[in-house]
Amino acid sequence: MDEMDVRQKARAFIAKVDVSSIREDLSPYVIAANAKIKKDELGEGESGYTITKPNGKHIITVNSLETEERQRFTICHEIAHIVLDLESSHEEVPSWSYAKRHPNEIACDTFAAELLMPYQQWLSIVPKEEPSLKLIQHMADMFGTSFPAAASRFASLSDAPCAFVTMERGAVRYAARSTSLRQAGAWISPRSVIPAGSVAHRVRSSGTNTADTDEVSQDIWFDNWEKGLDLWELSRHYARTDTTISLLWFDDEDLPDIEVSRFGVRVDDDGGLPELTGELPWPGRSKRR
Ligand SMILES: [Zn+2]
Repeated sequence: MDEMDVRQKARAFIAKVDVSSIREDLSPYVIAANAKIKKDELGEGESGYTITKPNGKHIITVNSLETEERQRFTICHEIAHIVLDLESSHEEVPSWSYAKRHPNEIACDTFAAELLMPYQQWLSIVPKEEPSLKLIQHMADMFGTSFPAAASRFASLSDAPCAFVTMERGAVRYAARSTSLRQAGAWISPRSVIPAGSVAHRVRSSGTNTADTDEVSQDIWFDNWEKGLDLWELSRHYARTDTTISLLWFDDEDLPDIEVSRFGVRVDDDGGLPELTGELPWPGRSKRR
């Protein structure tokens, strides 16, 4: 089951539920999954688990000592285990550690993000503006999710060329790209080190909880990329877990003038290939050096 399958299954599940009040109350999802929520004081680092009774009813226990935002995520993650019928592999791996997580757990996190931030609601609410710390925090508050979860959602549902990068202990773990950026053939290598010259590199070097936004050269982030063009990078470092996130975005006009095939491979222009799409949601700006 790849990421697209998981997203499609989540959207099919959501389609059967009235999600109009889901930002305040997750019970429509809980009912649809034939589950019940129990709150309990669990050990540190233990977010929750599910037990299935002989009658088929699922009891989801969540750690009442964790934040409201974290508990919402846990409930959706446990619903994912039920709906996708994937076994838990929760032992000993901290939930923030992307690198060492079992594929089932990553699939359930993806499913949970779809449930917490239903894409139609997200698209109707997200301001048509350039991203900022304030905008992402606003979206996180609106949907009762974490800042990184909202930043990741912003990138993957953006019309504009945009990417979200997760880094742990100084290495790139995961990059989510918007459709237009994928079509442009932009690629960030997983497992590479945080590139020198990036905002992520700078905020992590501080060793403290820091956030910053700045312009950097595009070829700092993208492999085999044209030089001389800039992009914006909003980065935030979480010192306790040594996790760093970056939101990268640039205007269409600052995309290198290239054509790509539908397989994402750059090719010479033969006139018969799909064009880059996506209207500029904010005023264009030239950032050529
Ligand atoms: Zn799990």
